[in-house]
Amino acid sequence: MRRVSSRVEAVDGGRVRMGGRWLISLSSNNYLGLTQHPRVIAAAQESIARYGTGSGSARLIGGNLPPHEELEQELARFKQAEDCLLFSTGYMANLGVVTALVGPGDLVIGDRLNHASLIDACRLSGAAFRVYPHGDARRLEEALRRRRGHYRRTLVVTEGVFSMDGDLPPLREIAETARRHDAWLLLDDAHGTGVFGPGGRGSLEHFGIRPEGILQMGTLSKALGSLGGYLAGPRVVVELLRNRARSFIYTTALPPGCAAAALEGLRVLQSEPDLRRRLWENVRIWTAGLRGLGLDLISDAGPIVPVRVGSNRETMALAQALEEAGLYAPGIRPPTVPEGSARIRTSLTALHTEQEMGQALEAFRKVFSGSTLVSR
Ligand SMILES: *Cc1c(COP(=O)(O)O)cnc(C)c1O
Repeated sequence: MRRVSSRVEAVDGGRVRMGGRWLISLSSNNYLGLTQHPRVIAAAQESIARYGTGSGSARLIGGNLPPHEELEQELARFKQAEDCLLFSTGYMANLGVVTALVGPGDLVIGDRLNHASLIDACRLSGAAFRVYPHGDARRLEEALRRRRGHYRRTLVVTEGVFSMDGDLPPLREIAETARRHDAWLLLDDAHGTGVFGPGGRGSLEHFGIRPEGILQMGTLSKALGSLGGYLAGPRVVVELLRNRARSFIYTTALPPGCAAAALEGLRVLQSEPDLRRRLWENVRIWTAGLRGLGLDLISDAGPIVPVRVGSNRETMALAQALEEAGLYAPGIRPPTVPEGSARIRTSLTALHTEQEMGQALEAFRKVFSGSTLVSR
């Protein structure tokens, strides 16, 4: 079936208008609602008024603007890393980091469910590329024991919170395994940052893992409410990336408005912990509600809550029926997820009201009742 993307005419809180109808949106990664936060909007506007709408050239040619430098410093501090480098998107951060660190003669080994940007980066690097079963630290250990000695450098790659499954890997075991085998660990915390950990610092903080030596990749486009990617880590690695990451060197710098929005978003998420508290309260209500309907949740560990369906055709029919019932919750099919594991992926934000979640649960009840997917 051909893929289409729907037209969104307006956005308001947890809802979007499509085809003239307001739908409750369960599709956004804007976990804290920062894209609509008055302070974040004002910071972007001010920065655009001062520096213009675009950066004009690449950083190594045209120089850094103050929002780039301030954001890199604050991200490094927030991630408890020595240094940080911005990229124009998270996708480009992954491409640039992996291809700068490993190449022919090296090994890169990643979780089987890693995001497409990581898979593309691993392939492009020219390093030997292996995968281990999802979240399986023991199989990672085995693979490293067998192979590590044959390669010069080794990079282990995992997400902190998996984007299509919503679950977290056993990160402590994975970090220790990588360390034991003298391998770098690249942690893609696109969905962890701003959401997990007592201070919203991400999956490392959630597990209480010290960030020293870990390469923390993230995006500004999810909880931070803007656009852009970054790598926070040891100074020597960041310095190497500044000189070698092609997706940093050969592209125009992030627009100042995006950098300023992300910087303000980072400040808001630290000064308004209530946003995170509301998000987690919504997660609790939503997962309890879906479980109460007898649905099979792939994960209930955080704001990404995918409902298992299986068949592609049934998934798309259910997504369509949900839309008719007033909900926008996309069906996710292969190749985004493995064959036979199509699902309805729901994601919650701090902006969803209790009333909206009640309506959304009612829509799920109506649409799934009578389907074989409901247990009991
Ligand atoms: C969204 C995402 C990216 C890409 O980030 P963008 O800033 O949207 O390019 C990378 N990795 C993961 C796990 C993601 O979910």
